[in-house]
Amino acid sequence: MGVSGVAKKSGEQLSASSIWLWRFAQVLVWLIGFGILFCLWFFPSLGILMFWNILIPVAPLLLVIATGVWRNVCPLATTNLLPRHLGLSKRKIMTAAQLGKWNLASVILLFIIVPLRHPLFNNNGHATALLIFIMVIAGISIGLIYEWKSAWCSGLCPIHPVEKMYGQNTLLTLPNAHCSQCMNCVIPCPDSTPNINPAASSKTIYHKISGNLMVGGLPGFIWGWFHVPDKTDGIHFNSLLQTYEWPLIGLMVSLSLYLIVSKLIKRNSERLLISVFAATAVSFYYWYRIPELFGFGPFDKDGLLIDLSHQLSAWIFTTMAIAFTIFFWYWLVLRKQNKKSWIIRPEFGKKISSANYNPIHK
Ligand code: SF4
Repeated sequence: MGVSGVAKKSGEQLSASSIWLWRFAQVLVWLIGFGILFCLWFFPSLGILMFWNILIPVAPLLLVIATGVWRNVCPLATTNLLPRHLGLSKRKIMTAAQLGKWNLASVILLFIIVPLRHPLFNNNGHATALLIFIMVIAGISIGLIYEWKSAWCSGLCPIHPVEKMYGQNTLLTLPNAHCSQCMNCVIPCPDSTPNINPAASSKTIYHKISGNLMVGGLPGFIWGWFHVPDKTDGIHFNSLLQTYEWPLIGLMVSLSLYLIVSKLIKRNSERLLISVFAATAVSFYYWYRIPELFGFGPFDKDGLLIDLSHQLSAWIFTTMAIAFTIFFWYWLVLRKQNKKSWIIRPEFGKKISSANYNPIHK
């Protein structure tokens, strides 16, 4: 194991120095996360800027290039896996059907929560802090019951489907800085399966629905989301209708397109179709988000990081958005699938082959 902590072989364990490095990184990122949470509550404008206009815009790019970095240092994961690290979890293993239901719930949560940014979270630090707090309570509670990442990080977390969507052709395979031994708690394990994607498992009807909904729906959902302005007059029936209208229309259109095309193409082209939808989704995100961050968005100061509209020309940001789009299409579609997983699987604590997998309930 090099000082960088990049793992080379399956089952490779973290060396003492590498564990120390990853623990240091986890504590550092956790403190940054806590600092943002503190600001969201006590200095909401600053907290909103740091969370919604710095951290979240960087996240998709990080997930595309090195999903494993985020999987190892996400502050929510570090918090929610504490019961397991401290030996307080009952370490139950879910059935495939249970996990499928939780994965479907995570996709639905994503599509419910993200539109609420417009009327609520984008302008309300307390609401955003409460959302994070609820996710911490939920994650810790289920982490007290289920083994390693099955409950939150690979189960109910609404960011997890996005990780699987964007992290299809990652650059690095890193050591697993959470699971000390693999207990086969998720099959297939998203961390340890090369070129994982949201439709990789069709074990149950829930897996199939969540995979189709995510791959097919996300590009249109993102496109629609950027056609809704932020609102500051609170949540009421009309504002909710406007909040969900375009994202859901976009979702339905791209999902229909995906389902039709996937029926028409050969089976060996499905993988390419999934990559095309992933590249489209992340390209849509930055196409709209880059100009918005620098004062060139369509809705006044929505999503503003720093207003450069009086200093710089719009074409600079249009060029940046085009460059990002070319990069994502190269990275996810044109580049060969590199057969890398986000994270190296640690040695098995209890070896169970996936063919003979029999969930344990104890
Ligand atoms: S590496 Fe093993 S124990 Fe860790 S999340 Fe994946 S399946 Fe579960």
